[in-house]
Amino acid sequence: MSPRRLWFLLRWLVFYNAELVWLCWRLPRHIPPGAALPPDSDARRRQAHAELAAATARHGGICAACGRCCLEEVDRFTPFDQLVRARSASPAPSADRRLYSVPWMAWNALSHTAQRLPGRSQQAPLPPCPYVGTEGCRLPRVERPMVCVSWFCLHLALVMIPADMDAAEAPLRAIEALHREAVRAARAAITGPPAPP
Ligand code: SF4
Ligand code: SF4
Repeated sequence: MSPRRLWFLLRWLVFYNAELVWLCWRLPRHIPPGAALPPDSDARRRQAHAELAAATARHGGICAACGRCCLEEVDRFTPFDQLVRARSASPAPSADRRLYSVPWMAWNALSHTAQRLPGRSQQAPLPPCPYVGTEGCRLPRVERPMVCVSWFCLHLALVMIPADMDAAEAPLRAIEALHREAVRAARAAITGPPAPP
């Protein structure tokens, strides 16, 4: 494996997602009603979504053929989407933090394991994401939850060509920055702005 690919795997599959779990844990349990990022934040999110769509365009068929990411029943809109889009013309329609909750992840892994046990194959699968349509996701890319455009599975990361990995870096950093800013905004809405020096 090339150092470039190893860096991408560590940076965007391991560190990025581990940090999201940590950031979600730092979010207040109840997001204060006034908490939001500045209005231009959603434009940054939209631009990052568009750039990531371009960076992954040649691999769209892989996800379309697999589709596994869209088969979980958990809502992909999180409080991060809620905070980034709160002052935009297209606020997030919902906010569910289970996706980054360690107990939910453990439960989900266990339930998938149980479904694969002998004799359980006839069990009705859980309903997929409500935005799945017959042709895939019904949401335009810029309207999708941030996780839907910034998540790379190992398989996808192993087939990306270096030029696409390079093109994905800047928009991934933009989305990463929005997550960090969302936590700061939510916590500041509770504690108030820092005292002047
Ligand atoms: S990111 Fe990976 S697991 Fe998810 S749909 Fe694409 S190929 Fe499948
Ligand atoms: S919002 Fe769209 S891309 Fe995201 S999980 Fe649902 S169907 Fe898939």
